[in-house]
Amino acid sequence: PIRTRIAPSPTGFLHLGTARTALFSWAYARHHGGQFVLRIEDTDVARSTQDSVEQILASMKWLGLEYDEGPIYQMQRLERYHAVVEQMIAAGTAYRCYCTPEELDAMKAGQEARGEKRRYDGTWRPEPGKTLPAIPEGVTPVVRFKNPIDGDVTWDDVVKGPITINNREIDDLIILRPDGVPTYNFAVVIDDWDMAITHVFRGDEHINNTPWQINIFKALGAKLPAFGHIPVILGDDGQKLSKRRGAVSVTAYEDNGYLPEAMLNYLARLGWSHGDDELFSIEQMVSWFDGSHISKSPAQWDPAKLEWVNAHYIKQADDARLATLVTAQLAKRGLSAPQRLEAMCGLFKDRCSTTVALADWLAMYVSPVTPSDADRAQHLTDAVKPAVLTFADKLEGLATWDKASISAAIKETIAAHGLKMPQLAIPVRVLACGRAQTPSVDAVLELFDKEILLNRLRSV
Ligand code: GLU
Repeated sequence: PIRTRIAPSPTGFLHLGTARTALFSWAYARHHGGQFVLRIEDTDVARSTQDSVEQILASMKWLGLEYDEGPIYQMQRLERYHAVVEQMIAAGTAYRCYCTPEELDAMKAGQEARGEKRRYDGTWRPEPGKTLPAIPEGVTPVVRFKNPIDGDVTWDDVVKGPITINNREIDDLIILRPDGVPTYNFAVVIDDWDMAITHVFRGDEHINNTPWQINIFKALGAKLPAFGHIPVILGDDGQKLSKRRGAVSVTAYEDNGYLPEAMLNYLARLGWSHGDDELFSIEQMVSWFDGSHISKSPAQWDPAKLEWVNAHYIKQADDARLATLVTAQLAKRGLSAPQRLEAMCGLFKDRCSTTVALADWLAMYVSPVTPSDADRAQHLTDAVKPAVLTFADKLEGLATWDKASISAAIKETIAAHGLKMPQLAIPVRVLACGRAQTPSVDAVLELFDKEILLNRLRSV
């Protein structure tokens, strides 16, 4: 079966780039009826945190990228890595290297001085007929992979097409550190092998690591997975998307009022296409995603487009669901949810592109509004103030509080004061909502707490 994985390092939140790779990997597995594995690459012990693991898992869950296995933690697999290292040493495909950091520094300095490429010089690399140095006292060795000297490493990248690297370009990689922790390039191979991963999708910043990994797979006699290296995501300044240039975590978009289905739809289109389709469900994506049409060149992050996609999903979203999300947004502002929040979401969702924007609107129902001086000057003229007060009295006397009665009260008021509809409706909006433009005024007013509304109107 097809098996894919996502292998984040728990050194922060789930980055948008990793989320997209996860989506592609997940969709590829689902498309083929295969499995998707989540692996936590926590071998960078100093930088890995439990908090980060939890954030990553929460973001995966929020996006709905369900995994069939995992999370599998690399640090819980040390014994396995050590066993493979021992096998490789016995088989002559890996060896202990006792070079001290000082020796390695000197090696590097010498190579730099001669204008050579920096590489391990093979001091401890065993060769037939070669005598190795005497093992020094007190040095804990690293273990290096004995990379082939001759020949090429070639693979047909799912995204980039055929790639060939000459083995002379690659030196003998450290696979096990003195503290017994494996390096990324080694652990990743053992894991992808043990977990029977058939397709490795990852960011193309890893492309230089792949030749080492392929050589290690071969040294182990393991079947090679297919590799697909996905180009980076660039910000609108053409630089790699980074924290300094705005939100790059999935969590940030969740906090900023985006819906997971919008994120998935937008991320899917970021470096992958299906004809001209822009808006599609995750089920549609799964049915289309066969690994083709992934772009070879970098994708451009476009916040305006993401917002447009989100607006589409907000419009379609169920009012009860929006009410729950807006309740959370209001709570962050110390506001409790108004009565009839569902109806409010229904009334305002067409003009909001995020649930934060919805909360911006709906806060007026529970917290004071401040009309701008310009709106006051333009719309709250002495001529209309008496009409607003009449209207407030009529509202107060209403036996039923609904759109039709409010609408009738408006008509009576404008008739009594000889005004046109906007001459009353706009001042009422400014006082009640703090803005001159809103959806239909009777619909907006109907959702107000009567007490609050009357106070605002009478403050004219
Ligand atoms: N831990 C690596 C990363 O987060 C995984 C790379 C891979 O998928 O092989 O970049």
